[in-house]
Amino acid sequence: MAVSRGCARRQAFLIVGRAFAVVILGLAGARAPQAACAAEPARRPNIVLIYSDDHAYQAISAYGDPRRLVETPHIDRLSREGMRFDRCLVPNSICGPCRAIVLTGKYSHINGFYNNSNSRFDGSQPTFPKILRQAGYQTAIFGKWHLVSPPTGFDSWCILPGQGVYYHPPMIRQGQREQLTGYVTDRITDLALDWLKSRDKSKPFLLMCQHKAPHREWLPAIRHLGHDKDRVYPEPATLFDDYSGRGKAEHDQDMTIARTMTAKDLKFTEPEGLTPEERKAWDAYYGPRNQAFKAANLTGADLVRFKYNRYLHDYLGCIKAVDESVGRLLDYLDAEQLANDTLVIYTSDQGFYLGEHGWFDKRWIFEESLRTPLLMRWPGVIQPGRVDDHLVSNVDFAETFLDAAGAPIPADMQGRSLLPILKGKTPADWRSSFYYQYYEYPAPHHVRPHYGVVTDRYKLVRFAAPDDNSWELFDRKTDPHELRSVYNEPAYAQTRDELKHELARLREVLHVPAEPPESAYGGPVRKQAVKPSR
Ligand code: CA
Repeated sequence: MAVSRGCARRQAFLIVGRAFAVVILGLAGARAPQAACAAEPARRPNIVLIYSDDHAYQAISAYGDPRRLVETPHIDRLSREGMRFDRCLVPNSICGPCRAIVLTGKYSHINGFYNNSNSRFDGSQPTFPKILRQAGYQTAIFGKWHLVSPPTGFDSWCILPGQGVYYHPPMIRQGQREQLTGYVTDRITDLALDWLKSRDKSKPFLLMCQHKAPHREWLPAIRHLGHDKDRVYPEPATLFDDYSGRGKAEHDQDMTIARTMTAKDLKFTEPEGLTPEERKAWDAYYGPRNQAFKAANLTGADLVRFKYNRYLHDYLGCIKAVDESVGRLLDYLDAEQLANDTLVIYTSDQGFYLGEHGWFDKRWIFEESLRTPLLMRWPGVIQPGRVDDHLVSNVDFAETFLDAAGAPIPADMQGRSLLPILKGKTPADWRSSFYYQYYEYPAPHHVRPHYGVVTDRYKLVRFAAPDDNSWELFDRKTDPHELRSVYNEPAYAQTRDELKHELARLREVLHVPAEPPESAYGGPVRKQAVKPSR
């Protein structure tokens, strides 16, 4: 009964949605939602969204980075038993904004959360957890929230305040502060499992398990110190990028392994909050290595190499615990015979640089931060082992989850349900271009605001800072590492013009204002007219 009621509601909604879409279609080429009730599975699936922070796809073994940085057997299970998306793009590559995009199915300029500096999520707006809850789902979120205002739309929640800490984290449960002991990734997993065990088993559920790891400063669990046995990691081709072939923005940023990493990042200082026993283990690992580093008196490229290897030990150590967490959650679903009725998603808020271009962090339209890992498993719906390279996005998640649940999809959401792709029936008119816009500036990391359009092959980028209105164009086919702008090359003149036209079309379809509000930057950026030079 629940299915047919949901379907009827949805069809009624689709009539309204289509009427709206026809208007939009006439104006700007948007598409109507897909009607697929007849093909829906017999039961509404549970949804388990495992969401990490800054987890680069390069650090998931299923993605096959040539460096073979780490083995992630549990996350890889989702790839083997489900679908791996190779081009899941984020509209604004930074933590809080991506979380707001996932919840609302809307870009930053619509949901109002632009940056991590001064944005506050308006929790009164529609979100997919709220709609699922109204449709009869139990909803819960545990772990990193990072949207400043308290969560809305959840029956149960327990979140880290702000960025949270790795060791013995304080948390906020339904508004009350609690002090937890242990390692943050383990404890978030415990909270998720405890909730699963005590939930109302008569209802389908949405569980969001949101890790702090592997966010900076990349503090692994004590048990994972030395996990890599002092491996010397292969280097990315662009570790020593000199940014030639590109403009002011790439030269003048503050996110390099060479210059930006702090003593805290590099574990030359001890973190706070360790027990005496943990401190002993910490010192036993880092102490002799730091002494050897001091004695070696490294400079230049050798110093960068030391930092790169220290960074990867710590970052990948965090990944080890995240992978164990995924294993525990999947084991529970197996043991309770829930796996066949559950859509499991593994993803990160955005991608991350692991030494490419000499960088850590994110923010750029370039591939490593634009792309986020996405793996989905739903037995009986997703054929195991499939790989998809369509341009999909985390702005599509809300509509996908609502579609999977047969719940109504608000017409003003800006993504598109991935359900047809999950079923192996990608619509012929699936998006072939994607709009990106980044705001936070000047701090931290001094990455200039920019927007642009991305296709399977090209990226057209427009910088929008007071001192930089330049354009860049990259051809990933001839330049896969995105090292040389061909914007001014005559051979690319037609492509450049076509992409400018497409960029303007996307900005119109997505209702992007000519200029964002001053507060969007999160810092004291002097507003200056940035007129498109078309
Ligand atoms: Ca993040």
